[in-house]
This record gives sequence, C-alpha cells and structure tokens, in this order.
Amino acid sequence: MNIVFKTSDNVKEKMINYYQDKRKEKTPPYAIFQAQEADSVITLYESGKVMFQGVSADIDANMWIDMEKHLNNRDINIEEKEKKDHRYHNISAIGSDEVGTGDYLLPIVVTAAFVDKKEIPFLEALKVTDSKKITDDLIRAIAPKIMKEIPYDSVVLTNKEYNDLKTFDCNMNKVKAILHNRVLVNMVNKGFNYDRVIIDQFTSPRFYFNYLKDTKIKITKLLFLTKAESKNMSVACASIISRYIFLMETEKLEEKYKMTIPKGAGKEVDKVAKELVKKHGEKILNEISKISFKNTEKVLEKK
Ligand code: MG
Repeated sequence: MNIVFKTSDNVKEKMINYYQDKRKEKTPPYAIFQAQEADSVITLYESGKVMFQGVSADIDANMWIDMEKHLNNRDINIEEKEKKDHRYHNISAIGSDEVGTGDYLLPIVVTAAFVDKKEIPFLEALKVTDSKKITDDLIRAIAPKIMKEIPYDSVVLTNKEYNDLKTFDCNMNKVKAILHNRVLVNMVNKGFNYDRVIIDQFTSPRFYFNYLKDTKIKITKLLFLTKAESKNMSVACASIISRYIFLMETEKLEEKYKMTIPKGAGKEVDKVAKELVKKHGEKILNEISKISFKNTEKVLEKK
C-alpha cells in the first residue's frame, strides 16, 4: 500500500521530530528523511510531500491526517482512497477473519459473520470499519450492537488446545484454514441468502485447500481477498466480533492469573511469561502460551 499527501509546515516539523530516531541511514534524493516504523517506510520530501509504504501504511498515515485535521482543519484526500476496491461493498456476504495468531499468551479467535446488504447502512452508522483502526474502547462499545443484529459464528482456540494440535504437526496457517473453514461451514449451513463467501486472505488458495485436504466438509466457492475487512462489511464485522471476544478472553485470563497480559510476542510479553513461570512453574507455558513460539526459549533461559 502506498499513501501520499502534502503536509502543512507545522505538521512537517512535528514529523521531523517524531521520526528523528527512526531514520534510515540513506536518504533518497530530494527527501528530508526516510524512516522505518514497524512495517511501514515513511519518506518526507523537501516539497512537503510525504509517502507511507507498507501493509500498515494507512495506520501510520492516519495519525498525521488526523493531526492535519486537528491543527489545521484540513481534510486530506489521500491517493489511496481513489484506489479503494468497491466491487464487493454492496453485496450480501458471509465473511471471516481472525485474531490472536501472533499473540504468545492470548488465544486465537475466528469468526464468520453474515451481512445482508440491507444491513450495510446500519453498520456504516455504527462506523464499522477495519477493526485494526478502531480502539479497544470502541470495539467494546459497538461489538455488542453488531452481535445483536448480525448473525455470526465464532470459535476460540485456547493456547492449550493449540499446543495439543501442534503435536499433530499443525502449522499456524493450517490451524487458521481449519478454523476459518469451520465457522464458514457453520454459517453457510444456516441458509442465508448470500452472494459471496469471503475470507480475509492469509495464504494462497492452493495452500489453503491443501491444508484442508483431510477435512471432509469444506466451503470451496470462496473469494480470497487481502485486506478484506476494508472491502466488505461481513469481514469487517467478523473482525470486530473476533476482537471483542478476544478482549473478553483476555480479561478472563487476567482475572484468573491476577495480572495484566499484554498482546503480541515482544519483550513485555516475555517478562509476564517469566513471572507466570516463577509463580506456577514451567508447565504453565503449555497451558497459557503458544509453546512453539521463539518466546519460549527466552522465557525459560535460566539466568
Ligand atoms: Mg485477517
């Protein structure tokens, strides 16, 4: 994804400060800097044009677009918006999305939702968009309303269950394929009048169906879309519902272990995992963590 827009002088200054210590060594011609933040590359040109590149470019760009609005009351029309794929917007669909596959201490949640196109205005009014752009608080506020109105099916795979699967040589994409297929089958069997079944693509169709070669009942008429949550409401809802259930599951675990359990698989997570091992012994990792992650080595380092 590529997003380009022209910054105002005050925002340009803030950008220079913000990316100061994220600068890359090399600066392209006519650029003030090129920086890397997580998966995005940000290039600010002398002309004031800024370019965001990478899978999460929209997330990084939005922070500055919001600032332009806030400080200068400017509405930025990013070039990406024109390229947006509207082909699958106004259809009735069953769509699926998941969360938790990159979280060492938190479970995997996969959801499929059915959105009749008549429901699209209701969802737009709720500001249903890509759940990655929505804060946890907003997820808590809108997900229950969606879940009351929109039919869905979810599956939670605890890390204990995930670890048990691993003994049968399951890789993460295979796990995802099996779980997506399970919730999609459940929704398709309910007899809704849908135009398409859409999956937020995480692997090629060929690999997907190869992962499912031993699965008897499967959805084969399937539309694979990348960034599907921004292209169709059913996937957007599936993504929000998955995240909501994930938040609830996180709270349950925090209640059980009486500590804050962070997302992801970074240093903060290792610290919490070490603490859990200290309190409950090494065997706790089989219960609560995705034991095949590299984190396990670091957590068990005897130092
Ligand atoms: Mg996804």
